[in-house]
Amino acid sequence: TAALPLPPSPRVFTIANQKGGVGKTTTTVNLAAALARTGARVLVIDLDPQGNASTALGAEHRSETPSVYDVIINDRAMSTVVQVSPESPNLYCVPATIHLAGAEIELVSLVAREQRLRRALDAYLEESAGVGEAFHYVFIDCPPSLGLLTINAFVAAREVLIPIQCEYYALEGLSQLLNNIQLIERHLNPELAVSTILLTMYDGRTNLANQVAQEVREHFPVQTLDTLIPRSVRISEAPSYGQSVISYDPQSAGSLSYSEAAAEIARRGAPE
Ligand code: ADP
Ligand code: MG
Repeated sequence: TAALPLPPSPRVFTIANQKGGVGKTTTTVNLAAALARTGARVLVIDLDPQGNASTALGAEHRSETPSVYDVIINDRAMSTVVQVSPESPNLYCVPATIHLAGAEIELVSLVAREQRLRRALDAYLEESAGVGEAFHYVFIDCPPSLGLLTINAFVAAREVLIPIQCEYYALEGLSQLLNNIQLIERHLNPELAVSTILLTMYDGRTNLANQVAQEVREHFPVQTLDTLIPRSVRISEAPSYGQSVISYDPQSAGSLSYSEAAAEIARRGAPE
């Protein structure tokens, strides 16, 4: 837990990949926990109706719990739904409940439907800074689709982090994702950039994993982090204890690799 540089203003990441099961939630939770452990103030916004990030961070998310749904659909202030994670006093979570499953449809008829998360988040970040509790990092965990919830995340963020699973078909769908991000950048959020690509579930014993890793690095030499996240049972066990792997098994390969990836992100800083 060496000291890392803290960003001068909050870095807001969307963790996106329309494929399910590639490590979005795992990456969100563990990078957030790793950065919080080094002293950064970190906010996780769970934007997936499944609520997996909420679970992993030990946040309450029963159906009656005030959540990101109330923020996006009912204009509720983010400060009134945020919870401190038992992981760390620096780590906060805006939980998702099952109500969010309907939001995709409800959003369609709302005014400024693409900007709702952005407005709520910007107000909360300003409010937090105003009372001397500024956040350093925000991570938005997206559902596995390119619908209005994910669009809200892209509009609220400055940086996109794409986790790529080191397996067959890893790059399938990537050009569609990049096209969508480009459309958002052109029409809704000129500040958006794919700043970070993280290779996950890496198994160095297979040629395939190495081929995928090499191919991704050729396509994205700047964005791809040097650190690879290995396939590890400890990583997959941690959420069932309501914990990140960072606190569940601090010395495991999974914990160390997510801590190293977090350090790389901190040292690189925000893109220009
Ligand atoms: P997504 O949010 O993209 O759907 P998840 O983060 O939920 O993906 O990961 C999908 C599944 O893979 C989960 O069961 C998770 O515990 C497991 N998993 C994620 N990363 C790893 C890893 N590095 N090693 C082993 N299992 C992993
Ligand atoms: Mg997920």
